[in-house]
Amino acid sequence: MYNEDTIAAIATPFGTGGIGIIRISGPEALALAARVFRPYTPLDWSQARGFRAHYGHIVADGQTMDEGILLVMRAPRSYTGEDVVELQLHGGMLVLQRSLQLCLQAGARLAERGEFTERAFLNGRIDLTQAEAVDDIITAKSEVGLGVAVGQLTGKLSRWVEATGAAVTELVASLEAVIDYPEEDLAELTPAEIDTKLTAIIIELEAMIARAAAGKVWKEGLKTVIAGLPNAGKSSLLNQLLAEERAIVTDIPGTTRDTITESALIHGIPLVLVDTAGIREASDQIEQMGIARTHRELAQADLILAVLDASQPLTAETRAWLATLQNKAAILLLNKTDLPLRADLAEVKALTGAIPQVAIAARTGTGMDELGNALATYVEQHRLQAGADSVLLTNVRQEDLARRALASLRSAQQGLHEGLMEDLITEDLRAAWDALGAIVGRNPEASITDEIFRRFCVGK
Ligand code: GDP
Repeated sequence: MYNEDTIAAIATPFGTGGIGIIRISGPEALALAARVFRPYTPLDWSQARGFRAHYGHIVADGQTMDEGILLVMRAPRSYTGEDVVELQLHGGMLVLQRSLQLCLQAGARLAERGEFTERAFLNGRIDLTQAEAVDDIITAKSEVGLGVAVGQLTGKLSRWVEATGAAVTELVASLEAVIDYPEEDLAELTPAEIDTKLTAIIIELEAMIARAAAGKVWKEGLKTVIAGLPNAGKSSLLNQLLAEERAIVTDIPGTTRDTITESALIHGIPLVLVDTAGIREASDQIEQMGIARTHRELAQADLILAVLDASQPLTAETRAWLATLQNKAAILLLNKTDLPLRADLAEVKALTGAIPQVAIAARTGTGMDELGNALATYVEQHRLQAGADSVLLTNVRQEDLARRALASLRSAQQGLHEGLMEDLITEDLRAAWDALGAIVGRNPEASITDEIFRRFCVGK
């Protein structure tokens, strides 16, 4: 067991709710709970079994503070791998704070952020990608993102890393056997065979890294900027996009929208609508400083939703602006189509090139379905599509390590082609293995040696 101290924290969000949970983990979890919780049916704490619920009261100085349910999970079959107790109390901040205080007085230490999950990792319950998945599940913005995160939690990415790592290990083992035991008649892979296997691993990693962009989109959302000249209907569009989102969440009374007003889920595709204050500033800058600066700001977006007031004839300004959209990742929205059309659509097309167009009326919401379809097409064309069962690299850490592994594998292959000594090639392969192992937070050496010795006969 990694930790000797017992930690406690309020596990439910800050604020009031029907239920609030205090989580306690560590060797003293039960002893500590015994000091603050009085079960209705007497309980032999030292013998308390896992996955049991006990009704009772939180008691401070002989005074009942709240009633609640105590859940017991015994090591190692708990979230952290340690003894865990969860107290389900009433979800008032004062009740929870005071109950937590009691736990601290009874000997617990206040848990740090993520410490329960950290313990789960350190105790070998989960690996690093699974630990990361916990957070991804909590912050999931789309069905796909959630599905990918759940898959990662159940070890899908870990298994991919393991399989890829095992393929590398096989090569290392083969090369090392030749180095260390040249007199043995081992079934050694020829350089051509190693080359073929190496190529397969490289292709696998390249594909995985290429899909990392998709992982980012489904997890974090497509960074989207709504652009257009003043009065084109940008705010109206934003409101429409957010209204779709709002329709989903307003059924839940008390849900605050403050933190998600800039996220919208359109046809299941998560958009992060870039800070609208910034967008408004940018549109002012169109007036004040011309188009060049806006151009630069838009360059950082994954996608531009370009709004054109199609009820007005094109002006020199709109023409210049439309021309800047050429070759951008943009969808052109011909807005205000509820009014008579005055913009010359043939000219718009000529100015904007291959950018997809969608006719909308932001004020009424007409065309939002078509916009959703255009988004889906965009995602497909940029190879960003993914299903809830996809295995993806979902953060920079994982992607960086995969890139490092790939670089090492390429270096190994180059060495192979140049006819370098085996041990120089294995050095690169080991580096690749290390980088892959670091994705799941694993120590590589034991496994490599293991692999090597399993290739020998017993007794050697
Ligand atoms: P922004 O300056 O680009 O943010 O544009 P707004 O969203 O504030 O819209 C400017 C004006 O155009 C407002 O009076 C809107 O009501 C109006 N407007 C926006 N979209 C439409 C539309 O689809 N049809 C019509 N008829 N008016 C619209």
